[in-house]
Amino acid sequence: MVQGYCVKDKKMVEMKNPVESLTKKGTKIAKGKCPNCGTTVCRMGGLK
Ligand SMILES: [Zn+2]
Repeated sequence: MVQGYCVKDKKMVEMKNPVESLTKKGTKIAKGKCPNCGTTVCRMGGLK
């Protein structure tokens, strides 16, 4: 389970369909959707 901070719900949520990607700076991040509102949720450090 991968958690990220949802800016709309203002709390940590469990990401839906998390995928790992890289920022332009080469930092690993995990990206997914908020299960509550569908907003894209990101987390630094990638999937663990
Ligand atoms: Zn949300």
